[in-house]
Amino acid sequence: MILHINCMIIILVTSSHGNVHIVLCIPFNERADTATKAALSLPVTSMKLPASESKPCTSRFCLEEWQDIWNSAANNKFHAVYPTVGKCVHSNLVSHRDAVIVNRLKIVHSRLTHSYLLSGEDQPICTKCDTVLTVKHILLDCPELRDVRLKYFTASSLKDIFESVDNQSIIGFIKDAHFYYQL
Ligand SMILES: [Zn+2]
Repeated sequence: MILHINCMIIILVTSSHGNVHIVLCIPFNERADTATKAALSLPVTSMKLPASESKPCTSRFCLEEWQDIWNSAANNKFHAVYPTVGKCVHSNLVSHRDAVIVNRLKIVHSRLTHSYLLSGEDQPICTKCDTVLTVKHILLDCPELRDVRLKYFTASSLKDIFESVDNQSIIGFIKDAHFYYQL
């Protein structure tokens, strides 16, 4: 196993007994790749570490790799909603239903606003202002929901809402606006 941690390349070898051997630890620079390959032919040291020592490093390394991959998909609409991988964002939601609602709002895709795609019906219209009904319309744009919206949050974009508004406030608004059981 090769780890890149805090500008260091650490090469670990795990034996069949679960012991982890540090083979080489070198600064990470433009020559690291060459040095890493050369290190693979070096003898394994006898220094042993419990496998548990490597677990935090391995987890961190995997998260960093995962984050790099996710960052390269910045055009994915979910990236704006979940910019950080491995992070639980619904810890303050008490019910599964609340979490489902917030998730649907974050992907701007709900039963109320998108079921017409499967049913073949016309796209839903906001009964309050006769505009196409979308998640953005509900959370940001509908002028008829302005007063109830102001009771819970002010925001200039969906990204702003999901980054700065507490999930409980979003759920409170959705309930007050009578969309909770429709989304
Ligand atoms: Zn409206």
